[in-house]
Amino acid sequence: MMIYGVFFKDNNMTRFANFCAGPATMPTAVLERAQAEMLDWQGLGASVMEVSHRGADYIEMAQKAEADLRKLMGISDEYAVLFLQGGATLQFSAIPLNLMNGGTADYLETGTWSNKAYKEAKRYESLGLGQVNLVATGSETQFSDVPDPSTWQLTEGASYFHYCPNETIHGVQMFDVPTVEAPIVADMSSCILSEPISVDKFGVIYAGAQKNIGPAGLTLVIIRKDLLDQASAWCPMIMSYKNQHTNDSMLNTPSTYAWYLSGLVFEWLLEQGGVEAIAKVNRAKADALYAAIDGSDFYDNKVNPKYRSIMNVPFHLADDSLDKLFVEESKKAGLLNLKGHRAVGGMRASIYNAITLEQVQSLTAFMAEFERKHG
Ligand SMILES: *Cc1c(COP(=O)(O)O)cnc(C)c1O
Repeated sequence: MMIYGVFFKDNNMTRFANFCAGPATMPTAVLERAQAEMLDWQGLGASVMEVSHRGADYIEMAQKAEADLRKLMGISDEYAVLFLQGGATLQFSAIPLNLMNGGTADYLETGTWSNKAYKEAKRYESLGLGQVNLVATGSETQFSDVPDPSTWQLTEGASYFHYCPNETIHGVQMFDVPTVEAPIVADMSSCILSEPISVDKFGVIYAGAQKNIGPAGLTLVIIRKDLLDQASAWCPMIMSYKNQHTNDSMLNTPSTYAWYLSGLVFEWLLEQGGVEAIAKVNRAKADALYAAIDGSDFYDNKVNPKYRSIMNVPFHLADDSLDKLFVEESKKAGLLNLKGHRAVGGMRASIYNAITLEQVQSLTAFMAEFERKHG
């Protein structure tokens, strides 16, 4: 068996090409740095996870991570950046609790994640927090397409408009920010930092870190400061954006190690040339993979080409009885975690920032060989 995916070998350790949707692969250089600093961080004789989050060393690191993120994404002083816990899923509750404010919240449904956000917000209607309106759904096309904006049922004067620019499971990405009047709230868990965006177009951007940034346990919230002050009386203290902002995201103990590792990833991204540079690599990776899929009758991606994700690429084999074999053989070839999500079936390659073009080319080479042998 040819091994396609070995990209790092040191003594007895091997790292393979890992296409996991999340928690996802991280840059090897970042892990090596964390390893080197593990026992003794900044000469303190202790690791970063063994020191107080209120100490000067930790706070300096935390502030640098925020400054680097601001530089990478072009985040102005009009926005607060919060480093929270609870994953993107806790934000599904935090958003209505902080922003619904007695009005109507508009939700666009383009896949599993925006559906979950919508359903969670809907629960708060009965508390009298406001109304939740489904603007449009892509469910009739099994989420292989985005409903045409001309059909969206938008609410005039809505409290906010929520959507998910990149549906991680269905591989559907909206590259244009919707033109709506309400403040836009975007779940960018699987596309944050993958390409340049205009933060100014958004009211709130949130993302779990474990897809395109770092380890699980950290959730980023970027929020326009004028939206900080609308929380319902029901909003738990720890979920209040205003409270977290006032306390520099340290209302209680933050996810200290995840914050540190994410900071290392931000430094790594800056070294790569920033988001503009990584976006070019991401385009090249996605182009190579979609070209391999489209160039074969054996592989198929069902998403409207206009909305094909550059981060998560689901694909099906012509004969799904070969799925199990594909997963087994790809794993043996050093290409990990290609099994698709059960909601969609088939395969999925998540090709986040830490995946290289070379690794994607290894995948397409393996796919061609698999088709030759079994197609
Ligand atoms: C993974 C994912 C989530 C869930 O994230 P958790 O941090 O596990 O709560 C939500 N939205 C999107 C788009 C995701 O990819």
